[in-house]
Amino acid sequence: MTDYLFDPAPPVSLPLSGTTVRYPVTRIFCVGRNYAAHAAEMGVEVDHEAPFYFTKTPAHLVESGTTLAYPPGTAKLHHEMELAFVIGAPVFRADRDRAGAAIHAYATALDMTRRDLQDEAKDRRRPWDTGKDFEGSVVLSSLVPATVFTPGDQRIRLTVNGQGRQEGRLSDMIHDCNGIVAHLSTLYHLAPGDLVLTGTPEGVGPVVAGDRITGQIEGLPDVRLAYSAG
Ligand code: MN
Repeated sequence: MTDYLFDPAPPVSLPLSGTTVRYPVTRIFCVGRNYAAHAAEMGVEVDHEAPFYFTKTPAHLVESGTTLAYPPGTAKLHHEMELAFVIGAPVFRADRDRAGAAIHAYATALDMTRRDLQDEAKDRRRPWDTGKDFEGSVVLSSLVPATVFTPGDQRIRLTVNGQGRQEGRLSDMIHDCNGIVAHLSTLYHLAPGDLVLTGTPEGVGPVVAGDRITGQIEGLPDVRLAYSAG
């Protein structure tokens, strides 16, 4: 038996809907600027040639239904509602069809963002890490198998305290899921354990202590997150 200096944390994992099986998460990739209307509201151009990515630390993932404290170091915490998927088979330098076949399941997700830190990083040409990758910054519903859910023109929306904030269609995505896997597989040897968030539609905005967020995509479980009051 290995003699560790301290007890290693158990693997981060997500439930597969309707089963007792869990999917262990080893890497998290997030696509930026994948809806034209959101890129416009951020004042940036979209890149139709290829998606770009940032990453989040699996230890920063929490499951839907969690209540968190408002995170430190920010006065401008933003919600981003996103479609997510997980990889079920090794895939490297794949064409669209082989890439699509490697997607095992889909989920709803929140890419929580310390927008003030991200904006400062952009201004100073620094990395986004502290704005994007912090404790509780990625929230996931349970996973629905790709045999049951296929992305099409389903509605994607987000409410805060029941008030509509984000609204779009999955068909508004510039790079679709199969295309994202094909491109990402030119950069990484993708494998089971890889989770991908696909970008957010327009309407991102601030949340404050006491807020309750609900994200919805037709055909998938809701993703819920609350911030404790005060
Ligand atoms: Mn995002």
